[in-house]
Amino acid sequence: MGALRIVFGGTFDPVHNGHLAVAREAVRHFHADVHLLPAADPPHRPPPRVDAAQRVAMLELALRGEPRLHLDTRELRRAGPSYSVDSLLELRRELGPNAPLAWLVGEDAFAGLSRWHRWRELLGLAHWIIAQRPDTKGQVREHVADIEATWPAELRAHAGGHWVEDPGQLHQTPSGHLARLQLPPRPESATGVRERIAGGGDWQQWVPSAVAAHIRRHGLYGVAADRQ
Ligand code: ATP
Repeated sequence: MGALRIVFGGTFDPVHNGHLAVAREAVRHFHADVHLLPAADPPHRPPPRVDAAQRVAMLELALRGEPRLHLDTRELRRAGPSYSVDSLLELRRELGPNAPLAWLVGEDAFAGLSRWHRWRELLGLAHWIIAQRPDTKGQVREHVADIEATWPAELRAHAGGHWVEDPGQLHQTPSGHLARLQLPPRPESATGVRERIAGGGDWQQWVPSAVAAHIRRHGLYGVAADRQ
């Protein structure tokens, strides 16, 4: 059995310090590298504000000096919409049927899983690592039951009770477990970064400084471009 591979999908529009905190904590807690997987054209949400090349450029800047975080651009190379099930099927083919594979998501994203394409297949293709994310009031859910209470009934029926506590268990089987990733709550969101830029708020502390410089230099998200 190979090493556990963790993939962290998202729009990264833009990548922010909350993403990095989650990815770094996953490396530490699960003793595995994390591969960030930007989506080309997410089918279940509005299109990204900036194009894929810019989102990738920001990810490359954010991942400099992060030896255990990697960039996986497979969804941008594939034609058509980015379906996670296609990426997981591709990864399964590459890694083999017995390799442990995990998809990392925030609590909010997992709660919407039953809107994803062919969602019932997803748990059979990978483990799911669910990162703590504060709700809109900044509150953190303490117990697994509080997390499951945010899921629709069909997701509870399909995925409920698959939790494991020991991170080592994700290394021992190829797929099928749910694991929590707890970390000090991170307030950042890409929506928040975009809204703060639009509203003239303080956004720069929410992204790595090289990403902030890139956003300013290219005038992304409506920021006033740097004068040279
Ligand atoms: P948006 O605000 O545009 O919805 P986002 O900040 O949620 O964006 P995405 O690129 O959609 O960023 O997120 C990729 C993944 O990272 C998702 O699984 C999301 O739940 C998770 N994530 C993003 N921000 C945080 C955070 N602050 N804490 C925990 N998980 C997060």
